[in-house]
Amino acid sequence: MRTSGPGLSSGTGLFATYAVASLVPVVALGVVLAHGNREDGVERGLESARAQAAVIEEMAIAPALSGDDLREGLTSSEERQLQEATDLAIFHGSVVRLRLRAFDGAVVFSDDGGVRGTLPSDDPDFRAAAAGGTRLDVLDEGTGPSSIRVLQPVIAGAVGRSVGVLELELPYDAIAAEVEAASTRTFQRLGAGLGSLYLVLALISLSTTRRLRRNAARSAHDALHDPLTGLGNRELFRRRVDVATRSAVPLAVVLVDLDRFKEVNDTLGHHAGDELLRTVAQRLSDTLRTDDTVTRLGGDEFGLLLSGITGVEEVLSLLVRVSQALTASVELDGVAVTVEASFGVALHPRDGHDTESLLRSADVAMYQGKRGTNSIVVYDPHLEKTPAGRLAVQSELRLALERDELVLHYQPLVDLATGEVTRLEALVRWEHPKRGLLPPAEFVPAVEQSNLVHPFTRWVLARALGDCAAWASLGVPWEVSVNVSIRNLDVDFPEVVLAQLDASGVERSRLHLEITETALGVDPGGAGTVLERLAAYGVRSALDDFGVGYASLSHLRTLAVDEVKIDRGFVAGVETNEADREVVRSLVALAHGLRLTVTAEGVETQQAADWLSGVGCDAAQGYWYSRPTTWEQLVDHPTLGTHRRPTLEPTS
Ligand code: C2E
Ligand code: CA
Ligand code: CA
Repeated sequence: MRTSGPGLSSGTGLFATYAVASLVPVVALGVVLAHGNREDGVERGLESARAQAAVIEEMAIAPALSGDDLREGLTSSEERQLQEATDLAIFHGSVVRLRLRAFDGAVVFSDDGGVRGTLPSDDPDFRAAAAGGTRLDVLDEGTGPSSIRVLQPVIAGAVGRSVGVLELELPYDAIAAEVEAASTRTFQRLGAGLGSLYLVLALISLSTTRRLRRNAARSAHDALHDPLTGLGNRELFRRRVDVATRSAVPLAVVLVDLDRFKEVNDTLGHHAGDELLRTVAQRLSDTLRTDDTVTRLGGDEFGLLLSGITGVEEVLSLLVRVSQALTASVELDGVAVTVEASFGVALHPRDGHDTESLLRSADVAMYQGKRGTNSIVVYDPHLEKTPAGRLAVQSELRLALERDELVLHYQPLVDLATGEVTRLEALVRWEHPKRGLLPPAEFVPAVEQSNLVHPFTRWVLARALGDCAAWASLGVPWEVSVNVSIRNLDVDFPEVVLAQLDASGVERSRLHLEITETALGVDPGGAGTVLERLAAYGVRSALDDFGVGYASLSHLRTLAVDEVKIDRGFVAGVETNEADREVVRSLVALAHGLRLTVTAEGVETQQAADWLSGVGCDAAQGYWYSRPTTWEQLVDHPTLGTHRRPTLEPTS
């Protein structure tokens, strides 16, 4: 289930790029500094040559001269003194060659007595030195610098004025050595400095790339996960399914939708709702296998990807286990709540080859699950004539309400003592323009899961009360029952009902509201108060499908209802099954003990009707009397409709 953090390898690449990129300026800086340093070294060498020449001129040459014009030649004492000074310097190796020249260029003294290599007297350097300047030049005989030539005026000590030009050649080696030593020192320092600079840059880039990599990994994780439960989200689910469908391994895609989650949220608060979602996430992860993927698709919907599933049996046995683990009750804010969920299953490749078709099939199956009692539904292509899914139904039904495509059929409730019809239950149908007349199971569950439930119920109430007023105007005294969803029972509902009653002119006591008992949940919360207010207004209500839900007995005691309708599941068994008989007998006794009337649903035979009458059941409803149909037909019914329409009576 775990993926390696994205960008790990690209992170290393990023760091390498950083490292190389920061190396370039460091090396360039090193080259520039080293080059500058070498030039500085040469400059320093020339400077010291100039100083050395000045010293030789001042200390050795000038004192030896009398100050006479050199063109006249040297005196023998002058020559001797010069020779001594020169010998010393040459001997020390500090001078390679020394010449003294008159202003006309004639060599008047030379350490080796020669004139070879002497500059012509019209050379600009010579002229500059004769005019009082000092000239330095690095001599190169093609094998690199060999010596430094210095041309400088000679100021005779005795007269204090320039008498000729001193031409010195100083060895370059000493300077070179000095430059070299200085360079080496500088290089070492520079190397150390640049090295540490590079190290710092490298460390900075290392930590930056690490941080970038962490951030990238975190945002990649966030984009694919649900912060509340830590599970993967819809995007991750799609990606996993995408990948899985491309392999040959068979798999199952399962949508899980919690039943009545909204009630928990509404009655116990969002905090409890969040806690419930986390618990469900944990239970799903705990019961599934490690290779399976559990994701939260949003709201109270989860998506499972089960790998290696080869058939219906296998997926069912796995999901039964999951469903059992889920239903263990959860304590939220001190209230024990049972979790129930519907599972819609699609198998790959049987029910779809790609992600889209698998999700669609699972959604269709899930939607089938919401209407029936079976909470795990595997997609069945034969169900395809039913709508594509909840969303499709919700958007189509919005239009259906506007276009008045819904109709009400009615089924009579018969008083078992008198055999007379006392009431009609309104059962909605949809005259679908394409699919024909749809039973409520095709669309009511989808409506109940959306906000459409309010306009939908208002429509049913208005139509049922209008019909009731219509049959009353024909002299038919039948009351009317309307099914309402638990989601309708919000604080505004009693006033909505009163307004509808007023508009229709039907007496309050002739309206019965039927609330499905399973929908009330463990803690009916606000719904209980709403039922009390309705009862106070004189509107009656019944617990529908009684016996198949939970905590039924406590509801009987606490809810302001005056009737229970025993679920047809029990009624169907009364002819053959002793256990069902016992349940019905006890329910009748219990309800009567609480002063509630009892209606049996789904009566299909005379025998069942007789038996129910025998155990004291008050009313019955079922195909034995009539299938749901239009109220006009019931009014005209030969045995049930004892009241004829005035217009149909003979006029004579
Ligand atoms: P319900 O309130 O329990 O309605 C009784 C259902 O049992 C009806 O199905 C009826 O046709 C069926 N039935 C009646 N007698 C017999 C019988 O002898 N044998 C058998 N096997 N079935 C019998 P229908 O009309 O398909 O309605 C199904 C459910 O849809 C209703 O169950 C009710 O929960 C819901 N529903 C119907 N109309 C509305 C409505 O206007 N609003 C709401 N919120 N729910 C509605
Ligand atoms: Ca009902
Ligand atoms: Ca019922």
